[in-house]
Amino acid sequence: MAAALMISVSGVRGVIGQTMTPTLALEFGQAFGHFLRQTVSSDKPLRVAIGRDTRPSGPMVLSALTAGLLSVGINVVDVGIATTPSVALMGRFLGTAASIVITASHNPIIWNGIKFLRHDGIAFPPEQAAAIKAAWEARAGELQPIENIGHLQTDSRVHAHHVQTVLPLVDVKAIVSRHFRVVLDSVNGAGCIGTPMLLGKLGVEMVHLNGEATGHFAHIPEPTKENLTDLCAQVKRHKAAVGFAQDPDADRLAIVDELGNYIGEEYTLALGTYARLLSKPGPVVANLSTSRMVDDIAAKFGCTVYRTPVGEANVAGKMMEVNAVIGGEGNGGLIDLRVGPVRDSFLAIAMTLDLMTRTGKTISQLVAELPRYAMLKTKFECTRAQADALVVKAKNALSQERIDTQDGVRVDFADGWVHVRPSNTEPIARVIAEAKTPERAQELVALIEALK
Ligand code: MG
Repeated sequence: MAAALMISVSGVRGVIGQTMTPTLALEFGQAFGHFLRQTVSSDKPLRVAIGRDTRPSGPMVLSALTAGLLSVGINVVDVGIATTPSVALMGRFLGTAASIVITASHNPIIWNGIKFLRHDGIAFPPEQAAAIKAAWEARAGELQPIENIGHLQTDSRVHAHHVQTVLPLVDVKAIVSRHFRVVLDSVNGAGCIGTPMLLGKLGVEMVHLNGEATGHFAHIPEPTKENLTDLCAQVKRHKAAVGFAQDPDADRLAIVDELGNYIGEEYTLALGTYARLLSKPGPVVANLSTSRMVDDIAAKFGCTVYRTPVGEANVAGKMMEVNAVIGGEGNGGLIDLRVGPVRDSFLAIAMTLDLMTRTGKTISQLVAELPRYAMLKTKFECTRAQADALVVKAKNALSQERIDTQDGVRVDFADGWVHVRPSNTEPIARVIAEAKTPERAQELVALIEALK
């Protein structure tokens, strides 16, 4: 059975040769060009920055998408293979009307996707994402005569620009003086090229696993514990100070401590928040499915944590609104607006090394200082209507507790919390619980399950 084409706020994803085809990419290029011409006012022809991760299908999708954009009069700057945050930053740097990343993030090699970002690097809000989808459904985009066809340029500064944006945020000299040994697993993805440049500037002795930009992922590419056993072993073998793992488009980062233990992606945001608040206390933003560790750290510094619906754009938007000093999502995505409103593994790497330098502590020591929680992430298969009904039932049944209804419902108890929300892309309800013990987290999930 052919996998469905997934169209969401962050763009479109499909399986190569089935739902993600050159025709689809071409049509989306034309439709997106049409959308930009309708919504962005400018006297000059509009420009778009495009980059891609390392998937072997990348050049095919890139070529077709570029042809679509050029044909409707949009100029294209191809920045080459680059991480999602790198492309977003390059679009901002070049002042383009939008940027596009060709990636299916952590999905396996058979997938690819097209992610549309605004001029500032944030995903389009739902109404505008719907307008892009509608333009594609209508096959919008007027083919231009020869004098109006777009120009194609290339720009090779993307990695250097990203690295130079991140470095000023940390004490480079102090980090260099530590001569850290780091094992990096780039999963043969887009992090392969720029990350070694960053680590080089930080004086790191790097052991690079899966550091070839081939897109042939050496393991299942999502940076979860079961997929990173080799990284854990190599950290021990090389007696490294820390191990870092990126997903194929390198917006997410997972960390392995100096003992070779995978500490979980929730710690990426927790440690990054700690590092940032040490130098600049201020508001913190995290999504509703993110660990309480962030609240515990913020409380130490007397700082407020704002919670948002799940989704990078929601977090980034709130960060701008409250002038947050740091923020992100629990799945390894750290955001600092001084770099850009995007989840960024380069930032997370730099902040982690900065924290180790400032505190003189190892990752395992830093982790041991934080309260330990058990998090349980599960999903119930159901229709969208059933998922919505479950949220309503949970709201009613638990209305005596502290509840947040921005995104499904999150219920906070003294000793834990549970968040239930309908998925926007799949026929499931996601249920995430966190508590002091795995048993209590299980109980919180059961509480929701009983309402089905
Ligand atoms: Mg990703």
